[in-house]
Amino acid sequence: MFNRIQNSILFSYIVVLISCFIVASLFIHKTYFSYALNDLKDDAGLFIDESTKEAVINKDIDFLGKIIRKQGEDYSIGIFDSQGALLAGSEDMNLKSQGFEQPEFKIAHSKGYGYAIRPGKDKVKTIYVAIPIIENGSWIGFVRISTPIFYIEKTIYQLRNYVIFIFIFSIPISFLISVFLARSISHPLIEMTKIAKKISSGDLNSHVSIKRRKDEIGILVNTFNEMVDKLRAIHDERKTLFDNISHELMTPITTIRGSVETIYEGRVKDKRVIKECFELIKKESDYLEGLIEELQFISQVDGLSVKYDFKPLKIAEVILDVEDTISIKAREKNINIHNDFIEECPYVKGDYRTLRKVFINLLDNAVKYSSEGREIFVSMRRMDRFLKVIIEDQGIGIDPRHKEKIFERFYRIENDVVSSKGIGLGLSIVKEILNAHGTCIEIDSQPDKGSKFTIAFPIV
Ligand code: ADP
Repeated sequence: MFNRIQNSILFSYIVVLISCFIVASLFIHKTYFSYALNDLKDDAGLFIDESTKEAVINKDIDFLGKIIRKQGEDYSIGIFDSQGALLAGSEDMNLKSQGFEQPEFKIAHSKGYGYAIRPGKDKVKTIYVAIPIIENGSWIGFVRISTPIFYIEKTIYQLRNYVIFIFIFSIPISFLISVFLARSISHPLIEMTKIAKKISSGDLNSHVSIKRRKDEIGILVNTFNEMVDKLRAIHDERKTLFDNISHELMTPITTIRGSVETIYEGRVKDKRVIKECFELIKKESDYLEGLIEELQFISQVDGLSVKYDFKPLKIAEVILDVEDTISIKAREKNINIHNDFIEECPYVKGDYRTLRKVFINLLDNAVKYSSEGREIFVSMRRMDRFLKVIIEDQGIGIDPRHKEKIFERFYRIENDVVSSKGIGLGLSIVKEILNAHGTCIEIDSQPDKGSKFTIAFPIV
């Protein structure tokens, strides 16, 4: 495949070179020929002045012969009268009357000048250029100049030889350039093919490493590497997901199985213990349900199929609804939730169902990461066109180095102060939902001093 790239480049170069060669040859021929023709025309024109005209009118052959002889031997000259009779001419010229039969005269009659190429003296290929002598608007004669075309053709052949030389010299250079170009294209492609093969066999740790370049190949390589990074991230995420889920499922399932076995085998008769077993089963089932909901939501986010129904709503109502659910958990830890809402809570545009998830996660974390007997404060502030909602706890706090990362999927801070359940999806879901609402969440936290999460909703 890669030799084909090189062959295609080389082939294109040679086609371009041949085309250039043909065009250059034609151009040289046309340009140099018209240049030489103009020269001959100008030289012929030099003979036409007042004295020549007078001599032609008076058929002063001696005078005309003199001026012709003065010209040396660069070319042959003939001066004809208006009937085509030769009045004077160079020695080597055919000194008989031309009678305007020759094509150069015929063309000169219609075009103002004419030329023709044909065998001349000694059968040598000669160019003849004729221009009229005009006096008071009437043609009184012609000057014809001629020279072997060999001189013109010699220069044209020389110039063409230069072009041929350049053409031949360009072929090895084109070959080298095509090899270089083909390599510079094929090398990254070969690398990418190797890496793609590794990836398809499950190795996601390789990168295409080529010299930095800003052209399309460079962009392709960067995009390819980004794709490999993304694949690796997805692969790692999937692994973490399986690890976390299997770990998180194990505890509730063991608890449920233990409770069911206890009740089923009838070993325990005490109604209070049996009730506790049922409560445990309910609690763990609720937890599993929450876990599954989180996973379903994440899968909807990835499939871009989360449905938002944005309507004007009062955030206070969403929070009070969530607190109803969380308060049971909070009470178990003797934690109080204090509300400091605005009296006339302004409307914000939001989706009730997903905003409920946001506050469930934030308040659930506030309870989860606080020790017994601590307080939680939920407050609202109106600032310009924004409604700020602040959830503050007196829990274990978050070390600054984790602050950004806790919003990433599956990021959890393992700590020995509070043992907590979770797979590290809650805050990433919060972030996704708030993004969809056109806002974000800020965190202010100190280890052992508690955490403060602030969200600013645009007021409608
Ligand atoms: P999960 O709670 O399932 O671990 P989250 O995404 O909700 O996942 O939280 C990620 C991490 O952020 C948690 O593991 C925890 O360490 C930290 N965190 C979240 N909220 C709080 C909080 N209010 N106080 C202290 N740490 C918190």
